[in-house]
Amino acid sequence: MPHSAHEAVNTYFTEAARIIDLHEELYPVLTTPYRELAVQVPVRLDDGSLLVTRGYRVQHNGARGPYKGGIRYHPDAGLDEVRALASLMTWKTALVNVPFGGAKGGVEIDPKMLSKAEMQRLTRRFTGAIHHILGIYRDIPAPDVNTNAQVMAWMMDAYSSVHGYTPAAVTGKPLDLGGAPGREAATGRGCVYVLGAHCRQEGIDLSSQRVVVQGFGNVGSWLSHELHALGAKVVAVSDVSGGVFSEHGLDIPALRSHADEGQPLVDAPGVEILTNDELLATRCDVLVPAALGEVITEDNAEAVQASIVLEAANHPVTPHGDKLLGDRGVVVIPDILANAGGVAGSYFEWTQNIQQFTWKEERFNQELEDLMTTAYAATRAAADSYGCTLRRAAFALGIERVAAAARLRGYV
Ligand code: GLU
Repeated sequence: MPHSAHEAVNTYFTEAARIIDLHEELYPVLTTPYRELAVQVPVRLDDGSLLVTRGYRVQHNGARGPYKGGIRYHPDAGLDEVRALASLMTWKTALVNVPFGGAKGGVEIDPKMLSKAEMQRLTRRFTGAIHHILGIYRDIPAPDVNTNAQVMAWMMDAYSSVHGYTPAAVTGKPLDLGGAPGREAATGRGCVYVLGAHCRQEGIDLSSQRVVVQGFGNVGSWLSHELHALGAKVVAVSDVSGGVFSEHGLDIPALRSHADEGQPLVDAPGVEILTNDELLATRCDVLVPAALGEVITEDNAEAVQASIVLEAANHPVTPHGDKLLGDRGVVVIPDILANAGGVAGSYFEWTQNIQQFTWKEERFNQELEDLMTTAYAATRAAADSYGCTLRRAAFALGIERVAAAARLRGYV
């Protein structure tokens, strides 16, 4: 079994590459990153002391277009983790057929320890250290765990101060700065479009599903909002403070307002409190890990009671956990399909910035729904024809497209 997140993603790669008989010589090309930049990030803190941390930008594969992927701020955002996430972006952008390659960035920091001014200094310092490998046709960052539209605004400004005004250099920006209406909700909404497509295919009534969501950040809260609006019963959600549960379904709009005020979920009125382990083992139809990686493993996969696991987070299920779920007939809708609405939305924002034109949110959502349901249908058809899981099919489609582009360009 793999020892690191990057090895784990490459386990999924290898299983899928075998199905499509990928030529041996392409394995090292497609399982290692093109470029890895590791930088020192010194930040002067408000109390006058100096914090020195590390930041990374990994460009995994650019055969299909400019490198694309988010920037996360997290103590565990080390090089191996960022490398794994960069490679997932390559397969994700190829699977949903947007003209990008795959990249990821990270700074090893706990942003809860920083003031807003310190966050801004950190972001500007990090952008200054990596700007020479970014650009609208080179590499385009976006939000990820613990980063948001404000962080993207600072990145855009730091980039533009060197290269001139360049809104398309970063996606996931605020609406007042070239952001696209719909982009903030796009990852969560995209997950729901894919789940809806799966339910239609299987004859499942989405509005009668009991859902558990781990994580209540951008993705988890938008996804819960959309599912609640469709009538599904979201019975448990969690944030870093712990999980909350209601047998009859949680009041998601109230929980979102509570979270928007910066309050921990466990302090919300009228809910039962759950530990993280209890949350993952709660009786439900759909379990949605929407927080960090490697949360469903060989240690807890047997306890999962859902019949569908929708991977809203990146790499939330380890290969061992994935096998245990599969053996029990649990359908896993893989990250590179489920959460691709974020990068699809980024593609819409990027094209609008380049054309200096803004779509209405209705159009954005319609295009997003078309793109996500098309990707689901292609993945489902490949899974049926290869007789494999949705994950293997999704990787197989992504790998085929990247390999074809690399060959056509004469890269190999
Ligand atoms: N961070 C998101 C992801 O993991 C979005 C990336 C992007 O929009 O570039 O897919």
